[in-house]
Amino acid sequence: MKVTDHIKNAKGKALFSFEVIPPKKGKNIQDLYNNIDPLMEFNPPFIDVTTSREEYVYINKGNGLLDKRITRMRPGTVGICASIMHKYQVDAIPHLLCGGFTKEETEYVLVDCHYLGIENVMALRGDSMKDEPYFKPCDGGHAYASGLVEQIAKLNRGKYLHDEVEAEHYSDFCIGVAGYPEKHMEAPSLATDLKRLKAKVDAGADYVVTQMFFDNQKYFDFVEKAREIGINVPIIPGIKPIAVKRHLQLLPQVFKIDLPQDLIDAVENCKDNKAVRQVGVEFAIQQSKELLDFGVPVLHYYSMGKSDNIKVVADALF
Ligand code: FAD
Repeated sequence: MKVTDHIKNAKGKALFSFEVIPPKKGKNIQDLYNNIDPLMEFNPPFIDVTTSREEYVYINKGNGLLDKRITRMRPGTVGICASIMHKYQVDAIPHLLCGGFTKEETEYVLVDCHYLGIENVMALRGDSMKDEPYFKPCDGGHAYASGLVEQIAKLNRGKYLHDEVEAEHYSDFCIGVAGYPEKHMEAPSLATDLKRLKAKVDAGADYVVTQMFFDNQKYFDFVEKAREIGINVPIIPGIKPIAVKRHLQLLPQVFKIDLPQDLIDAVENCKDNKAVRQVGVEFAIQQSKELLDFGVPVLHYYSMGKSDNIKVVADALF
């Protein structure tokens, strides 16, 4: 079922969902199931599966020279979605990236998704590759997520890339896109970033999932400003419980987000990571309660490969 239909059917009751990361190449999918299993009692109607950017590897040619090749450390997103849907009977949402994919390759992935019964996709640009200062689309790829949304929306109308005639049977994907309450790191201002979010919605996006944030006021303001410029689709907040002290540096560095001073102080006063985890969980519970009071359609949690703290949060809320 489409995310938007899940939200409609919930009739105002907030849903619980989360995002998982494919295991590294060579690992077993059971590792992933072990993380998902404890969260199934909270009835997530959908689970997101991320896609990782490709990376460079350097192969020693034995003559003192290195060969630069491209690899994906965590492939298998669409296959994982199919197995999640089969095993748990819930919707699984593959994240599709502009980065590293030509439009044709994207079309083939979408065809696979359609055959597998996947009804929702998350359309994202992706970050720049490690060691590259800014995002570069591959030849024949999309430069921005709005282009990817447009391609998916066209396919939803039966328009394949190079076919003259519209197809008789085609997909009807519900399309999610990313939103940034603290603006995307490359955007010159929040207002400009919001206009670009509007462009994604105008191109066919059906809902927005936000980057993680720790100050709910930023989300409330973001929703208000989005509504003012005519973004009327659901805006799902993304939440991440702090789990280790290193997150104090890592999350602002990677996601360009601010952490509230009281959270920083509480984490810094912790003697060990067990105590940090407790602080992170308590903060996420309070944050989630406030978001529930605001009337969010879904609480969406970033697991980043670990679900035990999300289970504690969900236990307190659902
Ligand atoms: P876009 O919407 O294309 O925006 C990127 C930047 O370009 C923004 O600064 C925007 O303001 C600007 N921009 C947009 N249109 C234009 C235009 N026409 N002209 C000039 N500038 C423009 N990354 C992964 O690699 N894998 C994942 O699975 C993944 N999942 C994510 C899930 C969520 C919910 C979120 C919030 C992010 C996720 N990301 C993921 C990270 C995301 O790929 C990065 O944040 C990326 O840098 C931007 O992606 P986007 O889709 O928001 O890009």
